[in-house]
Amino acid sequence: MKVLLAAFLALGLGAQSPATQAPAAASVPAWVALHPEYHASANCIFCKIVAGVAPSRKVYEDDRVVAFWDIAPRAPIHILVIPKQHIRSLDELEELPVETRAALLDACFKVAKQFGLVEHGFRVIANTGSDANQTVPHLHFHVVGGEKLLEDPITKPAAAK
Ligand code: 5GP
Ligand code: ZN
Repeated sequence: MKVLLAAFLALGLGAQSPATQAPAAASVPAWVALHPEYHASANCIFCKIVAGVAPSRKVYEDDRVVAFWDIAPRAPIHILVIPKQHIRSLDELEELPVETRAALLDACFKVAKQFGLVEHGFRVIANTGSDANQTVPHLHFHVVGGEKLLEDPITKPAAAK
């Protein structure tokens, strides 16, 4: 189900207020007006992070994308870069404006630079669909680094050494 952010916030989806308090009022951010293509998906945890109704440790944000720490980092640096507009994965990329597609790649680089990963290297991963074991159905790029990473079994198969 696609919902606009204003409706998303009005419904208070995912809001975490104590039972004794009224739900916190959330205002609609300025970038929503800039992007009429924007929509959220009602039960999507990453859409809730975009809307600010679920917590995250954000490290970068502009009007098209957000980057935040993975909740269970598997490397010293493990950041997720996502579009604010909900699409489930790269298989729906055509639904994103080309500017947003560019902004995603740009944000991956910015995050790598922000965390000092450019000199020694890093990896960007986008698990797409069931064969790739994608678990959160909102497009995201893992940006990982900060140590010598294990060789990837697909791009560095043992036989290719
Ligand atoms: P996937 O398996 O879909 O490629 O990656 C999903 C990633 O999202 C996993 O690395 C997982 O740890 C992370 N993740 C799942 N739920 C949350 C959450 O609520 N907050 C954050 N920051 N990361 C999450
Ligand atoms: Zn979403």
